[in-house]
Amino acid sequence: MTGRDAQIDEAIAEAHIPSLLMSLVHLTGDFSLLTPERRPQVATTISEERRLPPEEESEIRRLAGEKLHAWLDAGKPDLPEFGMEKLERMIRYLVGDGVDDSYIPFLEEEIGVGDFRKPDWSAPKLKAAAARMHVVIIGAGMSGLVSAIRLQQAGIAFTILEKNPEVGGTWYENTYPGCRVDSDNQLYSYSFEPNPLWPQHFSTQDKLLAYFQRLVEKYELRRHIRFNSVVEEARYDEAVHRWTVRYRDDRGSEHCVSGDALFSAVGQLNTPRYPDIPGLESFAGPAFHSARWRHDVDLAGKRVGVIGTGASAFQFVPEIQPRVSRLDVYQRNPPWLMPTPHYHDDVSPAQQWVLANVPFYANWYRFWLYWRTVEGMHEGVKGDPNYKGGPEAISAANAQMRGVLEQWIRRHAEGAPKLEGKVIPNYPVGGKRGLRDNGAWIRALRQDNVTIITDRIREVRPEGIVTDDGVLHRTDVLIYGTGFRASDFLSSYRVYGRGGMELQDKWQGNARAYLGTVVPDFPNMFIFYGPNTNLVVNGSIILFAECSVGYAIECLKFAALRDAAAIEVRQDVYDDYNRRVDEANSTMAWGVPQVSSWYKNDQGRVSQNWPFPTIAYWEATRAPQPEDFICAARAAPEQAA
Ligand SMILES: Cc1cc2nc3c(=O)[nH]c(=O)nc-3n(C[C@H](O)[C@H](O)[C@H](O)COP(=O)(O)OP(=O)(O)OC[C@H]3O[C@@H](n4cnc5c(N)ncnc54)[C@H](O)[C@@H]3O)c2cc1C
Repeated sequence: MTGRDAQIDEAIAEAHIPSLLMSLVHLTGDFSLLTPERRPQVATTISEERRLPPEEESEIRRLAGEKLHAWLDAGKPDLPEFGMEKLERMIRYLVGDGVDDSYIPFLEEEIGVGDFRKPDWSAPKLKAAAARMHVVIIGAGMSGLVSAIRLQQAGIAFTILEKNPEVGGTWYENTYPGCRVDSDNQLYSYSFEPNPLWPQHFSTQDKLLAYFQRLVEKYELRRHIRFNSVVEEARYDEAVHRWTVRYRDDRGSEHCVSGDALFSAVGQLNTPRYPDIPGLESFAGPAFHSARWRHDVDLAGKRVGVIGTGASAFQFVPEIQPRVSRLDVYQRNPPWLMPTPHYHDDVSPAQQWVLANVPFYANWYRFWLYWRTVEGMHEGVKGDPNYKGGPEAISAANAQMRGVLEQWIRRHAEGAPKLEGKVIPNYPVGGKRGLRDNGAWIRALRQDNVTIITDRIREVRPEGIVTDDGVLHRTDVLIYGTGFRASDFLSSYRVYGRGGMELQDKWQGNARAYLGTVVPDFPNMFIFYGPNTNLVVNGSIILFAECSVGYAIECLKFAALRDAAAIEVRQDVYDDYNRRVDEANSTMAWGVPQVSSWYKNDQGRVSQNWPFPTIAYWEATRAPQPEDFICAARAAPEQAA
């Protein structure tokens, strides 16, 4: 056996069996390999994946090794393309015959054997329309970048305005210790830009930023971006059907850029939320938000107060705990923890090799993760109106999930009296985003230098924090892990639509958009990661961004094919859609009255989350329905002049 062969066998030994089995079918074309005995049992994030009997696993690995060696030795000949019928058979084998038919085309796309979401503007009429168009994109985060790539592929010119000196948005701004993605990286990558070399299953912020930076170079986007450009206002001119965007550069000078369409990609989690506590400004020591981490503040030996136990604090508390002399963690509600033993683990070189080299393995692995962690969890967080079990769960399935997760938390908190009554949430699973956990959180909370404080904060004084019981907790450094002003959509600039209508006036503190993307009175304006497009149970926002960007470009195509100057969603369509979203959200774990979280706005409406299965979003955004929109006729040349 050569060194190469040994390396391959070592890699195959670590491969994920269901994905490897699918690769084997691609390599051999032999569907008889898909026997009932080898069929995997779909598990969700919180249930263990059932392993096949060892002899079945060994046989799959042996066969895969043999076929892979032969394929490599033959110089990697092209493998026969599998049509829809074969892919469907494989999908049904993996996820069960009971899968709804409507899922099949979506799952085929998610497998990503081709870039099915690439826009096609090759028809002569569209090509000509694209050549005349210019789009202004606000924001160069994950959503702004994918919109730029797709516009480029459609042949449409664009300019990106970005307030920061670099791309990346979330992954540029959040540099706190321990910041990492909590969707598996194979899912948290663009479907058309897989990355077999993610160093970790859930990579750290610097790796995420590097991924987006690499794509900026690959697609040559940098020359289209105006950095350090803070957008202050976007205004629609109805007479010429154009948007004019006013922004300020880092020298304070004002500029304008205009375009036929406006793509708003300013994110949901971009404006830090600071706690509203009397005396906050009087604090004598350094105080900062997790998204504005002060790397110049040395925490070694300091008494540190952390306000909040959401997703960011959950990541940085275990990192800073060993360095500080005392850590007071102020908690309103504990988070649900999702058992993820490999949360901090590296992807081994062997696994990376398989992902990069075994044909179609990465595609099927991504598919498997999607099914397990996204749709697999949805039913468990949906309420059952006939459930009689009490406010801590909303259905029998939800109560069952609670049981599994409680057990995980209790196991880690066992023998730590100071955590008694403080780490098990009293709200239903899914009420807030479940946090990936390998035990690091509770391990940190158990340490002698950590106190978890559940008393309400009464005030902040120069020397520390006073809780409702009157105790002063002396503090040197204060860190706000208090999240973002998520429900204040598009609050970083003002938007004026048709007739000078201001977007915030339209919304009245209650941001809504049809499919999270379009709003009546705001023609040719498209929002990404907009209202009700957030996911709670571990999906990836990238899927939603790809879908909404695809939808926006299809809307522009729809208008171009009709020689229309602008496209605008109808008010009744928007109203009806939001009614359905609200109704569905009210039955989900995050919408029930006993849960309060950043998913609800000041009016108590769930403004952030998508309440349906993700496939419903994909289906709805594939193409605009003609009856949903009003098109504005293009003015005759002499009128426009
Ligand atoms: C710490 C953290 C961890 C996360 N982990 C996950 C995860 O595991 N999985 C997941 O799916 N999602 C996660 N998210 C959500 C994450 O925000 C999205 O996945 C994604 O990064 C959003 O991209 P975006 O481009 O829509 O928004 P952002 O990344 O917020 O980018 C918005 C951009 O707009 C710019 N901008 C804003 N206002 C203006 C203005 N007025 N003028 C000019 N530029 C402006 C900003 O500077 C920024 O670059 C996480 C978020 C945070 C904060």
